[in-house]
Amino acid sequence: MRGLFFVGDREIEIRDLPDPTPGPGEVVIAMKSSGLCGSDLRLYQLPKTERGSYYRGRGWDEALKTPKVGGHEPCGVIAEVGPNVTQVAVGDRVMMHHYIGCRKCAMCRIGYAQMCLVGCEIYGATQHGGHEDLMIAPADTCVALPEELSFEEGAACACGTGTAFHAIKRLSVSGIDTVAIFGQGPVGLSGTMFAVAMGARVIAVDVLPERLELARKLGADIVVDASADDPVKAIRGLTDGEGVDASLDATGIPQARINAVDSAKLWGRVCFVGEGNPTTFDVSAQIIHKQLTIHGSWTFSTSGLAEAARFVVERGVPLTELITHRYRLEDAVNAYQLFETGRTGKVVFTWD
Ligand SMILES: [Zn+2]
Ligand SMILES: [Zn+2]
Repeated sequence: MRGLFFVGDREIEIRDLPDPTPGPGEVVIAMKSSGLCGSDLRLYQLPKTERGSYYRGRGWDEALKTPKVGGHEPCGVIAEVGPNVTQVAVGDRVMMHHYIGCRKCAMCRIGYAQMCLVGCEIYGATQHGGHEDLMIAPADTCVALPEELSFEEGAACACGTGTAFHAIKRLSVSGIDTVAIFGQGPVGLSGTMFAVAMGARVIAVDVLPERLELARKLGADIVVDASADDPVKAIRGLTDGEGVDASLDATGIPQARINAVDSAKLWGRVCFVGEGNPTTFDVSAQIIHKQLTIHGSWTFSTSGLAEAARFVVERGVPLTELITHRYRLEDAVNAYQLFETGRTGKVVFTWD
């Protein structure tokens, strides 16, 4: 079987690997779709001299000594089960919660293995990820894919779209809210779709025309081109000078985070999901005196993944429209080159 490796400086290698054999409690998943996500891009872009540095010094140094297959949005069919597997059976369609924790600590027990108190493994970084034909994983990290969803929709839910769902949920968005969403990449666009599905009036902000067009197609009421207009001024103009009830930053860019805070109205709510980059705020003027509630939201729990997928099914969220580009694993170079331009919706690898 084949697996994709990021070797640094935007180089990708597809290497032959032995077919995996499941041990006790493990399964082998025949991959059907594997999504490209912003965090994969970070590993793709790292200089060769810094390979692995994004995760270095955080308890993973040993795991990083051997390169790992990329991708952390795996979705496929159980092809083989090892001894003592009871949660899933051969033929089951599954998404993956892409972390492995100790299973015993307080965070693991509520399904947040990424916050494991003794350290976790992450598919596509410290363990082989989804950009391979056959993936081995503990059975308890598999989450049933609703039969109404395609494998590529499942892959989207497995990180970017699921992350957006839980960020929007954290903001308690409802039909009485106007919501501004900064960044219309796969996470921000998913946030737009979910906020629309929850009844909000949605203002989508980005700088790329392709993304703004997609945001409009996915239901945004208004789009703001932050390369042409000051988005905070534009949002105030659209909200009778008050600002929005809730805002989400899905960019991780300091100025966009500041804009998300500054475009929230008095008593407003703000959520950050875009990662990286230290950002400076005047806490008194920008946060305290506006009585803001600020949330950070990091992906989701195992059951949270199932919840996001069920919401997509039950509310008819147009997730399939988010997926704009499909590639075979052998075309990975083209897939990542295009994904890096940002001029896409969701990009996925597909198998059949
Ligand atoms: Zn744990
Ligand atoms: Zn991700």
